[in-house]
Amino acid sequence: MLVLVVNCGSSSLKYQVRELDPGADGGTVLTSGLIENIGSSRIADHTQALELLAERLEDELDGRGIDAAGHRVVHGGELFSEPALVDGGTIGAIEELSPLAPLHNPAAVLGLRAVQQKWPQLPQVCVFDTAFHGTMPEHVWRYAVPEEFYERWGIRRYGFHGTSHDWVTGQAAQFLGVPRERFSCVVAHLGNGASVTAVKDGRSYDTSMGYTPLAGLVMGTRTGDLDPSVVTAVLRRDPELTPERLDAVLNKESGLRAVAGDHDMRAVQEAAERGDERAELALEMAAYRLAKYVGGYHVAVDGAQALVFTAGIGENAAPFRARVCDRLGALGIRLDDDANAARSRETRRISAPDSAVEVLVVPTDEEQAIAAATAALVTGPAAG
Ligand code: AMP
Repeated sequence: MLVLVVNCGSSSLKYQVRELDPGADGGTVLTSGLIENIGSSRIADHTQALELLAERLEDELDGRGIDAAGHRVVHGGELFSEPALVDGGTIGAIEELSPLAPLHNPAAVLGLRAVQQKWPQLPQVCVFDTAFHGTMPEHVWRYAVPEEFYERWGIRRYGFHGTSHDWVTGQAAQFLGVPRERFSCVVAHLGNGASVTAVKDGRSYDTSMGYTPLAGLVMGTRTGDLDPSVVTAVLRRDPELTPERLDAVLNKESGLRAVAGDHDMRAVQEAAERGDERAELALEMAAYRLAKYVGGYHVAVDGAQALVFTAGIGENAAPFRARVCDRLGALGIRLDDDANAARSRETRRISAPDSAVEVLVVPTDEEQAIAAATAALVTGPAAG
C-alpha cells in the first residue's frame, strides 16, 4: 500500500510517500518533498497546499493513488496514548488540545482538514509525539504544584519525541535479540531539540522533556532544566520583558547558542577543537547534563541493558558521544573508540566488549514509524 506521511507546520507541509507491505516495518520512500510559504500570495492556505501536493503526487507517482495518510501530531494530551484512526471526533479533539501546543496542533488540524477535503474517502491516522510517554507512572508525570494547576490547565509532564524514542527502542531490542517487553534502556534523542527517555520493559517510564519541550537537556537553542525562579526573577527585574519575549529567549536564544554563540553542534565542536573556551564550556555543560540523566534513568529502570544514541547529534557526533560516555565509567560503560569513530548509517554497537551496558547508535526514522503505524491501523490486526 502507499502511505502519505504528512508533517504540517503553520506555513509548511513536509511529505513523504512510502510503499509498504502490510505488517512490514515502514517500506521504501517513493517520493518526498516540502511545500513552503503557505499563507503567501502564491499558496493562500493549507487547502491550496493540498491541491499543489495532489498535482505533484500525480506526476511523481505516475498516477498511482495513495491508500492512507499518516500525520505527525505533536500533542495528544491525555486523550491519545497511541496512534489514532481519524473518525468524526478526532480532529476536534486535537484542536481542543491546542492550548498545550499552540504552535503545532493548530497546524496539524489544518493539514488533517485539508487532506479530508481533498480526499474525503482516504483513511487518516494521527501519530502523536507525546503518545509513547502515556505509560509513565503518576509519580513520574506529576509536578509537585497545587492540584489546581493540573485540574484547570493540564499542567504535568507529557514528554515529546515519542515516535522516535519508541521506534529506536524497537530497533535496539531487535538488534540485541532481546524481546521488547523484557528490554530496558536509556534512549538519548539528540537533535536540535533533544530529550532522553528511560525505557522499562519496552515502555516509556520517564523522559526529560516535560509540560513543553523546554525541559531537560541543554539543546541547540533551549535551556533545558532551569530553576523556575529564574523566570519570575527576570520578569520582575526587567519591566520591558514580557512573558512572550522571555518564552522566545528560553526556547530560541538559549542552550548552545547562548553559551557558545552557535546552535549547531558541528560548529560548536569545530570551535572547541580550535580552542574556543565558550564552545568547550557549552559541550561540557551539555555532556554533563546528559550523563546526569543517564545515571538517574539507569536507576529508574533498575539497570539499563543499553544506552542508545539517535538523531543528528546522537548519530553523527562521535566526539560528543565519547564526552558523555567518559562520564559514565561509574556505570561500567566503556566505549570502543574505533567503533565510535566509524561512520555508518546502520544500527551499530559502539561499546567495548567489557562494557557493563551496551552502547548503540540507532538511526531514527520518524516517517518510517508513522507509515508503519498508519498501515497497521488502516489494514487492522488481521494483516499483521
Ligand atoms: P536533527 O535535529 O536531528 O536534524 O539534528 C541536528 C543537529 O545534529 C545539529 O546540531 C547538527 O550540527 C548535528 N549534526 C549533524 N551532523 C553532525 C556531525 N557530523 N557532527 C556533529 N554534529 C552533527
